[in-house]
Amino acid sequence: MSVEQLGKLIVITGPSGVGKGTIVSLLLQRYPQLRVSVSATTRQPRSGETEGINYYFLSQKDFETAILNHELLEWAEYAGNYYGTPKAQVLEQIEQGNYVILEIELRGARAIANMFPAACRIFIMPPSIEELEQRIRSRGKNSEESIVQRLKIAREEMAAKDEFEVQIVNDDLEKAISKLEKAIFSENTE
Ligand code: ADP
Ligand code: 5GP
Repeated sequence: MSVEQLGKLIVITGPSGVGKGTIVSLLLQRYPQLRVSVSATTRQPRSGETEGINYYFLSQKDFETAILNHELLEWAEYAGNYYGTPKAQVLEQIEQGNYVILEIELRGARAIANMFPAACRIFIMPPSIEELEQRIRSRGKNSEESIVQRLKIAREEMAAKDEFEVQIVNDDLEKAISKLEKAIFSENTE
């Protein structure tokens, strides 16, 4: 099925703490017609996170069942937990002609790029690794162990930025959003 012909798939990746969630939620406030895929994960909810809004929080067993039943478009293990994109909701939204944003880590982004070559692929970079660490710490939602793990993964992910057709440095938030708007609403649909 050539879903690319209908709506548009937008893959946003970049290291944890770079500001992906912040950028996407501001973009959604401005463009309510955009859709964001809600991922499944086995990690524990953080304070303030809501089932079905931030993630579908699954047990490891249920996540593995979803994998076996081919219910996920892509999935990856990240920092000791599973994360994956529910297939049905994304395909349905695209078929309805909607623009759908996937905010996912590098391996998932690569998998989507292989499946949907027409997807718009965006990599968000931090101004520096020091600023990234500062943002993860100031967000205050990760343990020290998890922060160290995320920074290690961040270095690996940032080495892959050239694989993405659009790279945006999230220094000034408004400038980053404006570049993202241009990338999403450009006319290069295939
Ligand atoms: P991600 O979704 O990529 O893990 P978040 O959106 O949770 O990242 O952002 C991590 C932290 O960085 C948050 O505290 C957020 O307020 C802050 N942040 C996001 N963008 C910027 C920016 N341009 N300048 C300074 N701080 C930012
Ligand atoms: P967090 O625990 O900070 O919410 O997310 C950790 C990482 O998992 C982030 O880089 C986030 O983009 C990524 N992620 C979230 N949902 C998915 C998903 O469905 N698939 C993949 N591959 N990564 C995801």
